[in-house]
Amino acid sequence: MYQGRNVRVGAIEGGFVELCFDRTGEPINKFDARTVAELKEAVAAIAAAPGVRGVLATSAKDVFIVGADITEFGEKFKLPHADLVEDVRASNEAFVALEDLALPTVVAVDGYALGGGFEFVLTCALRAMSHRAQVGLPEVKLGLFPGFGGTVRLPRVAGAQAAVQWVADGQPRGAEAALAVGAVDVVCDSERLRATALDLLRQAADGAIDWRAAQQRKRRPLNGHAHGHTNGSNGNGHNGAQALDGFAEWRVSVAAASGAHQPAALAALDLMERAAPLDRDAALALESEAFARIARTQAAAALVQSFLSEQVVKKIARRRTQGAQPVRQAAVLGAGIMGGGIAFTSARAGIPVRISDLSPKALDAAVAEVDRQLARQVKARRLNPERAQAVQRAITTQTGHAGFGEADIVVEAIVERLDTKRQVLAALEATLGEHTVLASNTSSLCIDDIARALKRPERFVGMHFFNPVPAMPLVEIVQGKASSEAAVATAVAYAHAMKKTPVVVKDGPGFLVNRVLMAYTGAALRLIAEGGDYQAIDRAMVAFGWPMGPSHLQDVIGIDTGSHVADVIGAGYPQRMPPIERDALKLMLVKGRLGQKSGAGFYRHGRDGAGRPMREVDPAVQDLLATLQPEGPRGFTDEEIVDRLMLPFIVEAAHALQEGVVSTPAELDMAMQLALGCPAYTGGPLKYADWLGLDEVVRRCDALRVHGAMYEPTPRMRQLAAGGGTFYEQGSF
Ligand code: NAD
Repeated sequence: MYQGRNVRVGAIEGGFVELCFDRTGEPINKFDARTVAELKEAVAAIAAAPGVRGVLATSAKDVFIVGADITEFGEKFKLPHADLVEDVRASNEAFVALEDLALPTVVAVDGYALGGGFEFVLTCALRAMSHRAQVGLPEVKLGLFPGFGGTVRLPRVAGAQAAVQWVADGQPRGAEAALAVGAVDVVCDSERLRATALDLLRQAADGAIDWRAAQQRKRRPLNGHAHGHTNGSNGNGHNGAQALDGFAEWRVSVAAASGAHQPAALAALDLMERAAPLDRDAALALESEAFARIARTQAAAALVQSFLSEQVVKKIARRRTQGAQPVRQAAVLGAGIMGGGIAFTSARAGIPVRISDLSPKALDAAVAEVDRQLARQVKARRLNPERAQAVQRAITTQTGHAGFGEADIVVEAIVERLDTKRQVLAALEATLGEHTVLASNTSSLCIDDIARALKRPERFVGMHFFNPVPAMPLVEIVQGKASSEAAVATAVAYAHAMKKTPVVVKDGPGFLVNRVLMAYTGAALRLIAEGGDYQAIDRAMVAFGWPMGPSHLQDVIGIDTGSHVADVIGAGYPQRMPPIERDALKLMLVKGRLGQKSGAGFYRHGRDGAGRPMREVDPAVQDLLATLQPEGPRGFTDEEIVDRLMLPFIVEAAHALQEGVVSTPAELDMAMQLALGCPAYTGGPLKYADWLGLDEVVRRCDALRVHGAMYEPTPRMRQLAAGGGTFYEQGSF
């Protein structure tokens, strides 16, 4: 009856037709512009065909429809407002046409039906869902909300409360949860799904189920009279006028959960409230209009880009594993905070690991930490006891290098001293097999400097993990001048096997992450020397969206570590990061205030009753820092603070990109989010600059240039500013 590339319609038994989603050449279905257009044609074909008694909607894939095609968003969201509204409205016609067919429609949902996929499901009169299926509206995770009628139909089908919850949290739901709110009518096993859906369809076509009432309910205002439920739904009765009183209450919790910088969830709630007294068509018009507005927010631009960047980063990492040797056995030298974490993460990923330290006490502490983490996971039922024991068995502790020769990769995580690392690695190298890749977890030394002590520098790379290793997703794979592609590939593959996100970076002071972070930290320290209040700076950056302010962050990193790293990186980029006169970090160091680990740094640290880290203001710090402020305290507005810190962050990121420290803006921005918690709604320093506009960034930088070369835009930035370009358009993907 109809055959498109992604949608087809054919006759099945009993005078029914099957509308089947089956995207050509791909393992999944998604709603791109073409599929929406085909849906419209398919529905028109059904409407025109004589004698059809009903429609069964299915998918030929393991999933139903995973959602919209996000790669189309970038271009679409650039449309002028009115054009975007029109585009969304036109797409909705396909859904409305299906809903308005003078025929019963039943959908059989197996696998994922998310976003646009679930919005399609909601247009059908009756919905059958398998136990393994998941439905939901994850648009908020992209800074958006549903635009194919989801905010209109879900409240009318499942009640306003469920709709607000589902749209605001973006989480997928299983069959039982969907049935409980009436989002679907029947739940069954996958094997029985088709028969069950067909049975529903037969009953609807025979008049045993009032499918017209089910469709009519979605065309009415939400706060009109609550009507009877379709057969099979559990009669939740959410649709009454009383339910509407809830909006004010839900607004409080939605606002608390979504934060100041991600307006989508709250905007969706407002939209649903405003649309409640309207009929379907007016409500849809409101949704299209509101969608076009939310699509143009900073959060949407950044989160959509980050979604795409994630794919880019994965693809690049996959490409970089070509030529890798499989890592079946690993070894770690140094059982401190980092070494212990690396060994645990390796074992947890099923890769057996030997861990060696000079100090048996360090080995005991590392094992005790592994045991503690495993016990916690077992208690939380995130791990079964047998798996936990397997992880423990996969770790062998020792004081020498025995067996290291058989390892496919050895990661060194001993003290951060160049001479020690050189000596120890040169001795270790002599005991290793020809094939063994050697990696250093150094955070500030150059890989090339260490490599000079080695006989086979081509087998040597950096593997820079972040603390705490089990939790932090990023690993910088550092390619030195001599590091071979094969060695890099093996390190990337190992990080990947540990379920980390590897990003390959070029060797150089601070690699990528710490170097760009240093520009930001240095700017904060300079602001303090000018009279800025460290607490006000921390507050402004938290309000901007960072998980913690720069002084607090140094306390967490450890003042001694932070100070050492600052020296090394500063020496590498003396022009932009010269030594800071009246340096608060150095002052903390000489006062022995090492941060969280010593109980005091910029703040006083302890633990609350439940054992969680707790931080309070230490009045002594204000006096200490006053000694660095000869001109006395000076107030800066939040905007000034944000610009003073974020602009050097952008400039340093731009230098790193231009120098090829990393190959794409996607990798750079992803690394800053994963390693530092750079606010998601900014999308990372480069996307943030793109959002502000390079001309604006350059203008603000020029105004602050008196404060140092860290505010000097790169030539590339000036070029982009002059030509109206962006980092992402110029990026190499
Ligand atoms: P740590 O002091 O906690 O642990 C170092 C361990 O190495 C100690 O147990 C020590 O006994 C052992 N060791 C020293 N010399 C040794 C040798 N010759 N043979 C075997 N063991 C030896 O240090 P850490 O914080 O785990 O840092 C280790 C490395 O990781 C450093 O290069 C550091 O720069 C880097 N790093 C640290 C962090 C962090 O936040 N701590 C983050 C990223 C990278």
